[in-house]
Amino acid sequence: MFILKGINQLTNAIAKAKKVRPRVEFGSIGHYRVSGSKGFYTVICKKSDNGYKTVSCTCKGAEKGLVCYHAAAALSLHIGLARQQQTA
Ligand SMILES: [Zn+2]
Repeated sequence: MFILKGINQLTNAIAKAKKVRPRVEFGSIGHYRVSGSKGFYTVICKKSDNGYKTVSCTCKGAEKGLVCYHAAAALSLHIGLARQQQTA
């Protein structure tokens, strides 16, 4: 799990996601399934009680606190959906 502080944090992971082009399946708001090398990983984006946005993924990298490309792929969808909700 990592705390999302800004989009800059995601630059490398987004670049990797663009290369790998994982499949992102929408579960519910903040809950996604992203395809990876060993099947699907679950990515959960949520706002913690103290106002931080936290992102967790079930892959090994994210367990160590790394920003993985699964999270980046899910977040790009998440941010898009959050925007749509605001304007709706
Ligand atoms: Zn991951």
